[in-house]
Amino acid sequence: MLITLLYHRAFECPYGNTLDSLEKHFIYLKKHANIVLPFEELKKHALNVCISFDDATFDFYEYVYPLLKKHQIKALLSVPTGFISASETITPETRISELKRFPNNSTNASCYCSFSEIAEMSTSGFVDIASHGVDHVNLTSKGIDLEKEIRNSKETLESALNKKIECFVYPYGRFNKQIHEIVKKYYKLGMRIGNGVNFSWDSSLHFRINADGIKKVASLLGARRRVLGGLKSIKRFYY
Ligand SMILES: [Zn+2]
Repeated sequence: MLITLLYHRAFECPYGNTLDSLEKHFIYLKKHANIVLPFEELKKHALNVCISFDDATFDFYEYVYPLLKKHQIKALLSVPTGFISASETITPETRISELKRFPNNSTNASCYCSFSEIAEMSTSGFVDIASHGVDHVNLTSKGIDLEKEIRNSKETLESALNKKIECFVYPYGRFNKQIHEIVKKYYKLGMRIGNGVNFSWDSSLHFRINADGIKKVASLLGARRRVLGGLKSIKRFYY
């Protein structure tokens, strides 16, 4: 079985865990699961967990990346390319305090990792990169340029990082069948939300479980019981 956990910020806010709490999560996951990145071989008869962080806000580079290295754990980072600058000269303290003012909707590039920081993490082996679109929009909204959001974000990341980008993470988890068909043209899989488990990397639609705001680490993988109870709902979304 493969559970993909979805994280956002690394500080106290409605879409985050404190850094202290995140470290407890990582220690617990390392002890109880086989941690994998997309398309890595899964351990049979074991619980495999993929850790994913959305939005590439600067707290990931400043707080989470050092924690991943400390515990020798890998994670997937989804990047909305329209918010990313080439590099940043503003101090880390200012970037973090600006991000904390608008933890969920900042459009200020200094609140996000820069391409030079993303490239450093990508080459470290601890962080894999996914596309999160260009402008972080709900793709099911009217008037969205789907080709731009889905294809351009991939091309931008591939040319900046010189590697293939195979995962697309749906902003807000929103998509429909037509959108998923376009994603399938350019990526191996699209990641959604929806409290579902996965059994391999083979399906083009990949489920994730929200792990923000979880203070009791044991309930992280207790999600397994909840999602197994809801397996019927997975079949409805089979593509
Ligand atoms: Zn997002």
